[in-house]
Amino acid sequence: MKIAILSRNPNLYSTRRLKEAGEARGHDVDIIDTLHCYMDITQSRPNVRYHGEELPKYDAVIPRIGASVTFYGTAVARQFEMMGTFNINESVAISRSRDKLRSLQLLSRKGIGLPRTGFANKADNAKDLIKNVGGAPVVIKLLEGTQGIGVVLAETAKAAESIIEAFMGLKANILVQEFVKEAGGADIRCFVIGNKVVAAIKRQGAEGEFRSNLHRGGSAELIKLTKEERSTAINAAKVMGLNVCGVDLLQSQNGPMVMEVNSSPGLEGIETATKKDIAGMIFEFIEKNANNASNKTRGQG
Ligand code: ADP
Repeated sequence: MKIAILSRNPNLYSTRRLKEAGEARGHDVDIIDTLHCYMDITQSRPNVRYHGEELPKYDAVIPRIGASVTFYGTAVARQFEMMGTFNINESVAISRSRDKLRSLQLLSRKGIGLPRTGFANKADNAKDLIKNVGGAPVVIKLLEGTQGIGVVLAETAKAAESIIEAFMGLKANILVQEFVKEAGGADIRCFVIGNKVVAAIKRQGAEGEFRSNLHRGGSAELIKLTKEERSTAINAAKVMGLNVCGVDLLQSQNGPMVMEVNSSPGLEGIETATKKDIAGMIFEFIEKNANNASNKTRGQG
């Protein structure tokens, strides 16, 4: 098959591995820089242009769209969908999962376990916001943050109030969340491909760090998921409408809680820890699904 990877950087581990794995399975794989794609949306025959030429017709596209380019990246992905190209994660699903509040609202509607979370636009009710999620300690998160940046643990109600006021004073969008202490600075990354958890790792934060992000010095170990953890991850992916994603769970006293669903999960940490060919599995999914029915929305979302 002819397959395009939408990625800004061909040297990233995940991008490299996807190209390698696709070619090893006999596919013709191109890496296309999302931000260099352009298109004429008034044309009756949708196409995508790249460096002065029309791109060939691809059978499938793998979007690896960074958080900072979500807006343009999802528009490019949508254009491929309009052309009838199978997009493994549809643009509507990517947009949905990128909006933390929207995701949490959708997950809660389906009864999926979540940390108690509050959000507000003004700081005048900060005290009540904190009380409502169970009181201090609380975790305060910038909605636009990634890789643990902008995630703060406020140990006392006073500290939490000040942080909320400071963030809101800067007009930053935040959420306030119950601190799941029993998670012990660890979380679980479940890698989901087409209704199956194909790999999972437990990430443990560095000594004295409540954030487990590998980018922040966390370490990864293998974990055997419980049935409940597995079904929570699969359900979260379904609610988001993502075929390929990383679901991050906290192990709480009340069972697994979903923190985030990531539409471009990194391959390096999970492939290194599990020694599994996850990139190959993504192509296996494409091989099985690209021909029948393809996308649900056909770019209409
Ligand atoms: P990002 O998307 O920036 O990685 P996360 O929301 O995933 O931010 O938070 C980063 C890390 O902080 C998580 O991986 C987890 O280890 C820890 N963390 C986040 N929220 C909570 C919480 N409510 N309770 C306990 N730990 C948390």
